[in-house]
Order: sequence, then C-alpha cells, then structure tokens
Amino acid sequence: MNNLTILVINCGSSSLKYQLFKMPQKENLAKGNVERIGETENAFIYQKTSDGRELKKNSGEMKDRLLLSDHKAAFQYVIEALLDSKMGILKSIQDIDVVAHRVVHGGEHYSDSVIITQDVLQVIEDLADLAPLHNPANVQGIRSAMEVLPGIPQTATFDTAFHQTIPEQAFRYALPNEMYEKYQIRRYGFHGTSHRYVASKALELLNRSAENTNLISCHLGNGCSITAISKGKSVDTSMGFTPLEGLMMGTRSGDIDPAIIPYLVINKGYSIEEVNKILNKKSGALGLYEKTNDMRDIVEAAQNGDKKAQLTLDIYTYRIKKYIGAYCALMIKVDVLIFTGGVGQNSWFIRQMICRHLQNLGIHLDKELNREIGGNTGSISHDYSPITIMVIPTDEEQQMAIDAYDLVDEKWPVKIIR
Ligand code: ADP
Repeated sequence: MNNLTILVINCGSSSLKYQLFKMPQKENLAKGNVERIGETENAFIYQKTSDGRELKKNSGEMKDRLLLSDHKAAFQYVIEALLDSKMGILKSIQDIDVVAHRVVHGGEHYSDSVIITQDVLQVIEDLADLAPLHNPANVQGIRSAMEVLPGIPQTATFDTAFHQTIPEQAFRYALPNEMYEKYQIRRYGFHGTSHRYVASKALELLNRSAENTNLISCHLGNGCSITAISKGKSVDTSMGFTPLEGLMMGTRSGDIDPAIIPYLVINKGYSIEEVNKILNKKSGALGLYEKTNDMRDIVEAAQNGDKKAQLTLDIYTYRIKKYIGAYCALMIKVDVLIFTGGVGQNSWFIRQMICRHLQNLGIHLDKELNREIGGNTGSISHDYSPITIMVIPTDEEQQMAIDAYDLVDEKWPVKIIR
C-alpha cells in the first residue's frame, strides 16, 4: 500500500473548498476555502492546518497579481498556501499525489467514482444541461488542477453515483416515456457521497455486514434528503431530477403539486424565472418562518413560543416522518436510522420531534442519550429499540479521499509514473 497525499476539491461557481488528506491513514492535514472568486477586492482565502495554524488573505492584499481572479488563479493560490513556509503543510508541489474532485451530476454514466480522462471530462461537460449551476464550476476546477498540476491523477466523485442502483420503478416518473428516453427526465438523487459515508460508518460501528442490514439515512443540512439503503445499495431517495424534490429544506420547497407552477404563471402573472427562484431560494424554512432559514434560530424561537417557528418545524418534521414511514414500508424491515448534516447532527430538538410517535415502526428514541450526544457519533436509541437510531457526522471529503485512494492505489502506480 502506497502512502498518498490527496487534495480534495469542491468547486462552486464562485468558491473553492479544499482539504488535504494523508492516506490510507485518513489523516486530515489541512482545510481551507477560497470565496468570492472573481471579485477583485473581496475575494479571500482561509486555510487552517491540523496543528492549528491559520492563513487569511484577501485579494486586495495580493499586490503583484490578481491572484483570485478566476478558478485557475484560486487553485494556484491554494497550492501556494499549502506550500507556504510559515502557514503551509507541504514542502514541495511533488508531495501532492492525487486531486479528488466533487462533481454534482454523473447522469446515468457513473455509479462509482472514476479517474478523470479526457472522455470523462467531456461527459461531465455534456451533463451541464442537467446541472447548469454545478457541473460547469466542477469542470473549471478540474481544468485548473490539470493546468497547475499536470500529470497528476485526478478523480471525480459524483453526488448522483450512489443512487444509480435505485430500481426503475422508483427512479421513473409517470410521465410520457419520451420524457425519459429523449430528455433523460428521471429521478437521479443527490447527497450520495454523504449517504454512502454515514451508512458505511454505521455498519462499521455496529459491526454489521451490509448484506444483512437495511438503513434509512437522513441528511438534514441546508439541503435535505433521505435515502433507503438495502444490502449497501441505495434503493430510493427523496431528491429527484434536481435537488428540489422531496423534503422541505432551508430555502427549497421540496414536494409540491406541480400544477401550482402553471397556476402561478398563467393565472397570477409570475414569470417562470420568478417561480423557479421562489421554489429554490424563497421557500422551505425561509418561506415559512420569513426571518431566516437558520434552523438554530428557528428552534430557539419555537422553544420560546413563537407560533410561526413552531409551524415551520411541524411542517419540516412531518415530512421527514412521512418519508421514514414510506421507506420502512418499502424495505419491510429496517435496522438502522441515521441522522446527519448540520441539523441532523446537531439538533436534539428536531430529532426528538421526528422520532415522536414512531414507536409502532420500531423507533424508540432515548431522550437523554439524544440530548447528551451533542454533535458526536453514537447511538441514541433505547437498547430494546428494534431500529438502532444513530447520529453520525458526515464527511464527504474523507469519502472522496478514500475513493481516490482506492482508485489510484489499485489502478495507477503514481510513484512509478513520476
Ligand atoms: P449545507 O447543507 O450547506 O452543507 P450544513 O449541513 O452545514 O449545510 O447545515 C446547515 C444547517 O444546519 C443550518 O440551517 C444550521 O442552522 C443548521 N444547524 C447547525 N447547528 C444546528 C443546531 N444546533 N440546531 C439546529 N440547526 C443547526
């Protein structure tokens, strides 16, 4: 087994988040982010190494070059930050063995992480039609890394890949066949790397085999999705063609009657762009509570008797309960229920609301354990609960590093190629 240093990249339209891992030890060496890429004065980089050294700089302070003017410049600066003699963690650029990229949409092409070739890059670009906000930014990240670190293997981990095992009865919409055949309109599902990570962590912690275990994983962050996992494979998930379907989220509506859209456009004079914005940016917790979509504030307001906040949480948790019920029905027997994501990991109050009155499904929450666990990993159910309820902080970046390590260590003898 090689020791490899893997740089994990998550590129958004104006941001670049990164983490550096030493593998196979799964040791996190540094993490950082570049924000507001392209904004001459306001772009900035923040990096923290595992021993606590912090580097903060904004583009106004970078005199000789506009270092954060585009993704390539941002990537270049990330490398400089990692190599910085005082605040960095690497001695030479040669120390980076692999770059692992998060890619949102892999369509029906990818059910696993892959090593990026020109063909793979082309497919990711072609899929921009299905993920116009995300895939182009992911491509920019990949191209930047290829230019700055030529010859270094790059891998892609797709948000959709884990859900490619969902059977057709679950992934097809009841639309005319040509909608699927001509336009690939089907349910894809997202957050796959997170669901896969927490599910495998639960199996490891409970010492159970994937083959004999059914799990339901609730990823509750700003975006929310819930996945049914049987024999280690995703068999259904709440997000669909886009990340808008399913649960109510921070600013997204989740499931609605699709007829609301033509009603608003035809009868009420909204443009389709406005409706799109309402559904994605102005709905969910923000639409209902109005002041914020930050669940911490909403929970606090509800605890202080605010009726709007209470209704927001009632709608939020009611929908999660419905999906848990549905997934219990489709998997017949469920062994583990997992909570993850900013809300799922941290809010005992929301977990308690979700699990209330689910005893008939075999879900018996231990209220004290639930409160005491904080944001840590562990079980929060009574010993006699047929379904073990767990809190597991997600770590998509670690999962990406694991995938990249497995791909490169097996298929590409990097140290020899160099
Ligand atoms: P993202 O989906 O953007 O990755 P996160 O998974 O970090 O987001 O989740 C962000 C959400 O988690 C925010 O709405 C935040 O308010 C919520 N959150 C974090 N801690 C708590 C807490 N203790 N109680 C309730 N909500 C929390």
